Amino acid sequence: MVIKKFSCPTCNAGCGLLVEVNNNKILSVKPDPNYPLSGGFCCPKGIALGDITNDKDRILKPLIRSGNLFHEISWKKAIDLKGLKDREALWGRSWSGSSSSFSSSYSAGRRSSLL
Ligand code: SF4
Repeated sequence: MVIKKFSCPTCNAGCGLLVEVNNNKILSVKPDPNYPLSGGFCCPKGIALGDITNDKDRILKPLIRSGNLFHEISWKKAIDLKGLKDREALWGRSWSGSSSSFSSSYSAGRRSSLL
C-alpha cells in the first residue's frame, strides 16, 4: 500500500488529495492538509473519486450514440469526430447531432486537459 499525492481532476479548483493505493486500486481518498491551494479542503466529489475510479461499469473508451444505443469507437475516431464538430460549429455551418466537451485546468498548473 502506498499513499500518493494528486490534484483532484473533477473541477478547476484542483484540490490536493492523498490517495491510498494498493495493486492499482484506490482504497481511500482524503484531503491533503499540506497542499497550499486547498489547505486540507476537498468536497464530496473529491472523496468519491475512489468509488468512481473503481466502479466496474466505469466507461474507459469513447462511445458514440446511434439512436438509443451506444457503440464503442477508437480514440482516434472520437478525436477526429470531435474536431470535425468543433470546426463546423466554429465556422457556423449547420450540423446535426450533438457535441460535448470536457475541460479542466488545474489551478496548481500541474496539467490542463481538453477532450
Ligand atoms: S475536491 Fe471538489 S472542489 Fe476540490 S477539485 Fe475536486 S471536485 Fe473540485
